[in-house]
This record gives sequence, C-alpha cells and structure tokens, in this order.
Amino acid sequence: MIVIDNIGKLVTMERALQKRGRNLVFDDLSIVEDAAAVIKDQGRKSRIMWVGPRSELPAKFKKTKKINARGQIVMPGLIDSHTHLIFAGDRSREFEMRLAGSTYQEIAASGGGIVNTMDATRKASKADLLKISLKRADLFLKQGVTTFEVKTGYGLDYESELKCLSVIGDLKKKSNATVLSTFLGAHAVPPEFKGRKSEYVKTLAFEWLPRLKGKFDFVDIFVDAGYFERADGEILLSEAVKHGLRVKLHADELELTGGTDLAVRFKALSADHLLKIGEAEILKLAGSEVTATLLPTTAFFLKTEFAPARRLLDTGVRVALATDFNPGTSPTQDVSLVSILAALEMEMRTEEIVAGLTLNGAYALGLENKKGALLPGYDADLVMFQASSLAQLFYEFGHRQPSLKVFANGRFL
Ligand SMILES: [Zn+2]
Repeated sequence: MIVIDNIGKLVTMERALQKRGRNLVFDDLSIVEDAAAVIKDQGRKSRIMWVGPRSELPAKFKKTKKINARGQIVMPGLIDSHTHLIFAGDRSREFEMRLAGSTYQEIAASGGGIVNTMDATRKASKADLLKISLKRADLFLKQGVTTFEVKTGYGLDYESELKCLSVIGDLKKKSNATVLSTFLGAHAVPPEFKGRKSEYVKTLAFEWLPRLKGKFDFVDIFVDAGYFERADGEILLSEAVKHGLRVKLHADELELTGGTDLAVRFKALSADHLLKIGEAEILKLAGSEVTATLLPTTAFFLKTEFAPARRLLDTGVRVALATDFNPGTSPTQDVSLVSILAALEMEMRTEEIVAGLTLNGAYALGLENKKGALLPGYDADLVMFQASSLAQLFYEFGHRQPSLKVFANGRFL
C-alpha cells in the first residue's frame, strides 16, 4: 500500500463519469485540492483504494508508506485510443516528393502509400517489429500515456496480420503500459486482391476473423471513399458482432459515406475521424453510446479541415482525442500536439481536452469502469506534474512536461 500525500490538485473525473463524458464543464473534472490518494500496489493489479482531502485520510492509512507530491497536480494516466503503432519503415521519402510538388497519384504510382508500409511490415521479423514497438510504447509512457490501442492493417495477408497480432500480444506482456489490440485487416485492399474488393471482405469476415478470434480485442474497418463501402462494413461488422466482438470504425474522414451510421447501428465503441460528418449523423451520435474519436494531427498533416468538434460537443456527443500515430497521415506520438490543435483548431476547452485523453478515451476502449478516472476500484494509472494549472500540460507544446512522472504497473516508472 502507498499513500501519495500532499497533492496540490487531484483530478478524479467523478462527475465527468456520472455524466458519461458528455456536456462537460470544468467542475466535472471533480478536482480535490490538498488531497491524498491511497494505492494498493500490486503490479498490473494495482488499484486506487481511496481518494479525498488529506484532512479526511482514514486513520488506518495514517501509518502507510507516504510519497510526498509536494503540491503537484495528479491526474489519470493518458489514454491514446487510436494508433497504428505497429509498422516497419517510414514514408519520409514520400513526404519529400510531396514537398517537391508530386501529387498523391504520382506518389502511389511510384510504389508509395500504404503498400510501401505494407511491404516493409511484411518483410520485418517479429523480433524487429517488437523492438520498434517497445521503443514506441516507451515514448508514449514518457509522455504519460499509460494505455494505448494498436491496430493491425499493414500486414494485409493472413500470415502478416497474424504476425502483427502476435507482436502486439508480446507488447501487452512486456510494456508497462496497458495495450489494447484491434484487427484492421480492412485497412486497404491488398495488391493480391486488386479489383476483387468484395472477395477480400468476405475472406476477412468468413475466414480470417474466425481463425484470428481471441488474438485481438476489437474489429475495425476503414469505410470511406476509395477504401471500403457501407455494404462491406455491414458484412464484416455483422460477423464480428456474431462472434461477440466489439467494433470500431474509421468513419466519414474523406467523404460522408455512411461510416457513422454503421457505427451507431452496430453499437460501435467509437467512430473515428469524422472530418466530413453531417448534421444528421451528429444527432445520431449524440443519441447513441458511440464515442467520437477525433484525430487533429491527421487533419494538420493532410492540411484538411478539422473535425467539427464544437458542434459535436455542443450537441452532447462524447468526444475522445487520439494521435492516429501512423507513418502516412499522422507520423507523430506527440500528445501535446494533439492537445494544442484540439484547443486552437477545434476550440475545445481544458476539461474537454483532459476528458478526451483520459475518461473518454477509456469509453472508446470499453474501459470506463477501470481507467480514465481516479476513484476507488479504478486502476492506479496516473501522472503527476508541477504546474500552476491543468492547461500547462498542453499550453507548452511540442515536448513532454519536464516535471512529469508516471505511475503505472504498480510503481513510478
Ligand atoms: Zn486510423
């Protein structure tokens, strides 16, 4: 047992949880001043036992080992609920071509795009992929990200998708972070199935999905112009649901093509991107339990319009924020950049950004009863930093908070 004592501000998220992460005001962060937190430290099973004002610390914890927080802010560990962290190679050469004036079509014709990353990922050994992934996991942990999701989707053949899922399985065991895995075979049509998209979707739904079941947490599909259609989504998601799996969607990013509708219909955990979402879809999301996951670094990198965050939030949609870390459209793991873009380009408020990267990220992963809040019974994933206000976490952007300390897996890392 450990008591973190002398906490200046303890962000518990209690009222944000009661409001299921929607229509938040600053008070919903439920900040306790001059607080203490009691943690049962048992590795991955570490839990919050008690939180509250120091003056009310129960007598039975008075003699427990104390860590002096010296007036710092303590908040839930950050959650990145949308990443494509497992891939080999990079696409900097294509960026160079883009800067020199090449079009997307020219880049694709010269072997660029998703196929480029697919080739590199297929060639990479499991050991190499694990090594790269562990480094990336550490980069997240150093910024306070204690839980993140990883999608497959750069293997795109059965053996390579299986290889990536097995590496994510090892990552789950070896990293101090909590890692969730998503099967995204429906990321793009692989060259082997060129011109036979429906056949690929059926192969995914009726052959790969049942064989790979048990090796991942969620199923995802990229329903959008030039990728998969609504009918493809219906086939794959119906099968996923039949197998008792929760689903997520890449929805309405490039064009409005029915992704959000599908997300609501299949009770998805989240609909992600939503740059082109329409008013009718926003209302449907608000009336559902689907979390809208917004990925501002992608819009920034592609120089497109940002998602209509204000409209989503003001309509009562639950909004999460994530990096979309991938080599093609969001080559960054920088959470401070996600936050500052959310603030300045999407007009999100402090409480919305904090919830977007904690509690609402937990909702997007179905973990709202375990993570994203600091309440008794919740996992003891937390970050501690010296700052005069919460906004300092993203007001100074482009680097991690110099004073940031991360507690996960039962200890300060
Ligand atoms: Zn994505």
